[in-house]
Amino acid sequence: MAITLACIGGRAAYDLLHDGALVAERIGPRPTPFGDSQPIHRCQSRTGGFYFLSRHGEKGYERTPTFVNYRANIYALKDLDVRCIVSWSETRAISHNFKIGQYVVVDDLVDETRSRPQTFFENRGLGHIRQWPVFCPSLRRALVDSLTAAGCEFADRGVYVCVEGPRHETPAEARKYASFAGELLGQALVPEVFLARELQMCYASLCYVARYAEDGTNYRPFEDGRALEEKVEQQRAAAAVERIPRLLERFLRILPDTPSLCHCESAMSPYTTTGELGLDWRSWFDGADAGAATRRSRS
Ligand SMILES: [Zn+2]
Repeated sequence: MAITLACIGGRAAYDLLHDGALVAERIGPRPTPFGDSQPIHRCQSRTGGFYFLSRHGEKGYERTPTFVNYRANIYALKDLDVRCIVSWSETRAISHNFKIGQYVVVDDLVDETRSRPQTFFENRGLGHIRQWPVFCPSLRRALVDSLTAAGCEFADRGVYVCVEGPRHETPAEARKYASFAGELLGQALVPEVFLARELQMCYASLCYVARYAEDGTNYRPFEDGRALEEKVEQQRAAAAVERIPRLLERFLRILPDTPSLCHCESAMSPYTTTGELGLDWRSWFDGADAGAATRRSRS
């Protein structure tokens, strides 16, 4: 059966692959007009197959978020006929309404990145497309149903602030993000979510809370009236990661029966209906100087 789902994960996700928690065959990096993608693995679970891509590489944190080739990664997955992407993202919670180890199916984001290429259509006058809903509602529904069926503690919404990194936020920055409704901090989802939309793919993220954002004190955060021990914090975050392979199995079973709630496959219709872009997405990059764009993004 054709594989139409891909997962993009960070270092913790790759550790699961490396430790054998995910059964996978390495098919390697894929060449694209935007350079080589990160290595891709073909995974098999009891409920279906999916591709896996580790955005930071295969040796720990070898490529920090600023230097990930997001365009090559998304292009390579599209080229493999992937239609849906679920990304895993570790977050730090600004809002203490979220608990350490809790999952969050985020529904909106604020982009605070500064130096990442955000479009496949650099200098082409294309890409003026609406960003609502930000994340695919069909995939979000399937994630919520999977978490509910698994009995996991989760929030079905949250505003994710994507920062440049790799450093963490200052206390004043955390207060600034809170002032414009940010609830979770991470470094991974931008520009992935925007690039997936340009290639008319469904994209959603399963976030988990690893710790709280910087508050400028050395006090432990309080939960249920008592200070949260650092050891408990680490154990909960690790447990959230360890449960992900089983959640993916459940997600693969639930996704085919999830009602279609999205228009992701026609996101570029403002251009395909006018003929500015052809119906075959591969023709969108014929003659485009993607190589120059890649060279600029690497310089
Ligand atoms: Zn969709």
